Amino acid sequence: MTSEEIRLRFLKFFEKRGHAIIPSASLVPENDPSVLFNTAGMQPLAPYLLGASHPKGTRLANIQKCVRTVDIEEIGDNTHATFFEMMGNWSLGDYFKREAIEWSYALLTDKQEGFGLDPARLYVTCFEGNSDAPEDQESASIWREIFENNGVPGNRIFFLGADANWWPAVKKGQDTWSGPTGPCSEMFYDVTGKINSGMSKEEFLAADERQEVVEIWNDVFMEYVKNNGKIAGKLKQKNVDTGSGFERIAMVLQNKNNIFDTDIFQPLMEKIESLSKNWNLKSGRIVSDHVRTSIFLISDGVLPSNTDRGYILRRILRRAIRHTDLLGISEGRIDDLIDIIANKYKDSHYQIINKLIMIKKTIKEEEIKFRETLSKGIKEFEKITDLTPEKVFDLYQSYGFPIELTEELAIEKGMKVNKKEVEKLFKKHQDLSRAGSEKKFKGGLGDTSEMSVRYHTATHLLHQALRDVLGPSVRQRGSNITPERLRFDFEHQQKMTPEEKKLVEEIVNEKIEAKLPMNKITLPIAEAEKVGALHFFGEEYGNKVDVYFSGDKIETAYSKEFCGGPHVKNTSDLAGKFKILKEEAVSAGVRRIKAILE
Ligand code: ATP
Ligand code: MG
Repeated sequence: MTSEEIRLRFLKFFEKRGHAIIPSASLVPENDPSVLFNTAGMQPLAPYLLGASHPKGTRLANIQKCVRTVDIEEIGDNTHATFFEMMGNWSLGDYFKREAIEWSYALLTDKQEGFGLDPARLYVTCFEGNSDAPEDQESASIWREIFENNGVPGNRIFFLGADANWWPAVKKGQDTWSGPTGPCSEMFYDVTGKINSGMSKEEFLAADERQEVVEIWNDVFMEYVKNNGKIAGKLKQKNVDTGSGFERIAMVLQNKNNIFDTDIFQPLMEKIESLSKNWNLKSGRIVSDHVRTSIFLISDGVLPSNTDRGYILRRILRRAIRHTDLLGISEGRIDDLIDIIANKYKDSHYQIINKLIMIKKTIKEEEIKFRETLSKGIKEFEKITDLTPEKVFDLYQSYGFPIELTEELAIEKGMKVNKKEVEKLFKKHQDLSRAGSEKKFKGGLGDTSEMSVRYHTATHLLHQALRDVLGPSVRQRGSNITPERLRFDFEHQQKMTPEEKKLVEEIVNEKIEAKLPMNKITLPIAEAEKVGALHFFGEEYGNKVDVYFSGDKIETAYSKEFCGGPHVKNTSDLAGKFKILKEEAVSAGVRRIKAILE
C-alpha cells in the first residue's frame, strides 16, 4: 500500500464512522508562544478536549504535522524522524475506550476497509496504575475480548508505567504538564515476523529496545486535567485522543523494518546515496530527515535565526549540511533533494510547491552563512590528532564551536572528548575571568570603584535587555569592567541592527528611570534556577548561590543573575544615560558590546 493510499484509507475509515475530517494545523502553534512546535495531534485540539465545543462536532479525524526536537538524537535509528505526521481520531465527550480500541484493531487488521496487518504480529500495552489513576483493566479486557473473538492466541497484553502509558509521558520528577491528560494503550507490530507470541514482559521490552516490535499507534483516554504536573481533577467530559505515526504505518505495511525504506523516504535516500562519494547510512538518514523537517518548517513560516523556532531550524539545517559534507556531496546539491521532497508532497502538502523558490533561497542562504562561519573551525579541527580539553576550549573560544558540535565531530573521527576534564577547564577559565574582575573591584576602591560598581549593575540590565530584544539564546560569554566603560561579550550570530541597538538602549534607560531596587537573595541552586536566574554555562557552583535581582521581589524582578556583587542599591544610582558605543564580532558567533553611562 502506498503512503498516499494510507492517508486516504485512514481518513475514509473514520469518516464512515461519523468523524469530520479536519485539516492539519500549522507546525507553529497559534496563540501559544510557550510551545515551539506542535508535537502531537492533540496540541491544537487541547481547548476542545478541555470542553470548548468544536464547530465540526464531537468526532474528528485528521493527519497532523508534528516536529519533535527531543527525538533529534534518535535520528538515524529505524523509527524516529524529527518531522512526522500523526494520524488521529478524536472523541470529544462522545465514544470512549470500547469504540476507540475496537476501531484501532479494525483499521489495523481489516483487509477490506483497513490496512490488513497480521493480527498475530500485534501486541498492546495498558497502564499499570499509580497514585494518579488505577490499573487500566477496562482497556485490557476489551483487548482480551478482541483477541479471543478473532482467534488470535498468545500473550499480547503488557502493563507498563506512566513513562510509557500515560500521555504525555511522565519522566521522573520532570512533569510540568498543564492540560488534558490520561492513561493510554499503545499498539506494537512485530516487524521481524518471527517473534514467538509467548513473550514475557521482559522479552517484550527487550524486543522494543531492539526495534523488533515497533510502536505504531497510541490511544489516549483523556479523563483528567493536570496543573503543573499534578492531577487537578477530572475533565468535564471523557475524550479519546489517538495518534498513529504515518511513516511507521507505511513501514509496517510496506514490509520494511525502518521508515527510510518506505516510499516516503526511499527516492530521497536513493538520490542522497547516488550523490555521495562517501556513503554511510546514518548520515544519509540524518540528511533526509533534517532537510525534510527544514522544508516543512520554512513552509510554515519559520526562518533561520538565533532565537526560538528559528534557532531550532538553523541547528537542524546546519546539521544536515554538515552531514552532506561527510557524505562527500558537492555544495549546492540540496536543491535536488528539495525537489524530490516537494514532489512527494505535491498532493497532500501543496504549499511546499507554492513556496518552492522561497524555500530553496532560504536554505541556500543559510548554507552560505554556515560555510563562512565554520569552514575555518572545521579545518582547525581536522588538524587535531589528540583532542585535549584545551583544544575543545580553543574551538569554542576562537570558532564558536558548541561543545556538542565538537563532541559529534570527535565521535565521527573516532576520538573521545573527556567531558569531565573539558567542563573543569571551562570552569577554570571562568573562575579566572571572575577573579580578574573581583580584583578590579577590590583594587579600585575609593574614587574609581563607585563607577565600576555602576557599570556592573548596568551589565546585568544590558544582559537582560539583549535577551528581550534578541531572544533567550543570548548568553554571556565574558564581561570586563573599568571605571570608564563596560564591555560585554555574548553569543549571537549576526551583527545587531541599528534598531536593535536603539531598543536595547531604551530598555536599559527605562529600567534606570524606573528606580528599581537591587536586591540580593541566597538560594539553593535548584531554586535559583527555577526562578530563572541567569548564570554562566557549564559553571559549577556550591549548594547555595547569591542571586542579584532588580526589583522588589525576585519573581517579578527585571534581571536576575547568579553573582557575587557588588551592585548599586538602586538602578537610579546609575545616574546617567546608557549608551552603546560599539557592537562588533569577537569570534564566530560571539559579539562584543562596549557601553558607557553618559
Ligand atoms: P516512541 O516511544 O517510539 O518514541 P512515543 O511514545 O514518543 O513513541 P507517542 O507520543 O505515543 O510516541 O506518539 C504517537 C505515535 O506517533 C507513535 O505511536 C508513533 O507511531 C508516532 N511517533 C512518535 N514519535 C515519532 C517520531 N519521532 N517519528 C515518527 N513517528 C513517531
Ligand atoms: Mg507512546
